[in-house]
Amino acid sequence: MVNIGAFHTLLQETAAHKITLVAVSKLQPVSAIRALYDAGQRDFGENYVQEMLSKEELLPKDIRWHFIGHLQSNKVKYIAPFVYMIHGIDSEKLLAETNKQAAKHNRIINCLLQIHIAQEETKFGFNPEEAAALLHKIFESPAIYPNVNVCGLMGMASFSDDMEKLRREFNSLAGLYKTINLQHAAFNCLSMGMSSDYKVAIEEGSNIIRVGSLLFGARN
Ligand SMILES: *Cc1c(COP(=O)(O)O)cnc(C)c1O
Repeated sequence: MVNIGAFHTLLQETAAHKITLVAVSKLQPVSAIRALYDAGQRDFGENYVQEMLSKEELLPKDIRWHFIGHLQSNKVKYIAPFVYMIHGIDSEKLLAETNKQAAKHNRIINCLLQIHIAQEETKFGFNPEEAAALLHKIFESPAIYPNVNVCGLMGMASFSDDMEKLRREFNSLAGLYKTINLQHAAFNCLSMGMSSDYKVAIEEGSNIIRVGSLLFGARN
């Protein structure tokens, strides 16, 4: 089930560039996560709150859990005790709720703002101007949201096999990221790239890739 050969190839590709590999384990069994854990993987990504909760209970505590799906504000409270990073912050309301729930557990949760880069209408996220305005507010007044660390951007490219189109979308997100990173060195995470497009994403400057089916095989 787990493709250890693909895992080792990905490790070589990511280690060379200091890129974080998030193994996307949504809809995969605990045994598959355990197999990758035993091979040394510590960062895992999940899309569904209930599924992440039940897996977290069964698996070692040194796993860094990344929530990468669409997150409803009323569900943040369930994952706030342990989640390491939320990639899909797509509204200030969700950020404020994450800050509130993190404070209850005396934690700081890493958050990425999701930017709408694809042409499809259905994908969630900020447009670049909205994100820049929110970041400006946060950097000016860090005391507003002390329990979140807004440390980067996340994007999903169009569902397409036109690699040049994907490259343009990744390149535009990387451009926004670099502008902010130049002024705020701690804003240093750029999450883009999945099984089918991670190579292009890395070429365009990604430093966190989210890879599922390449590692675990097709989802049920
Ligand atoms: C499912 C998912 C992935 C992984 O997709 P694969 O094609 O299986 O690598 C990455 N990011 C997000 C946001 C996802 O929902």
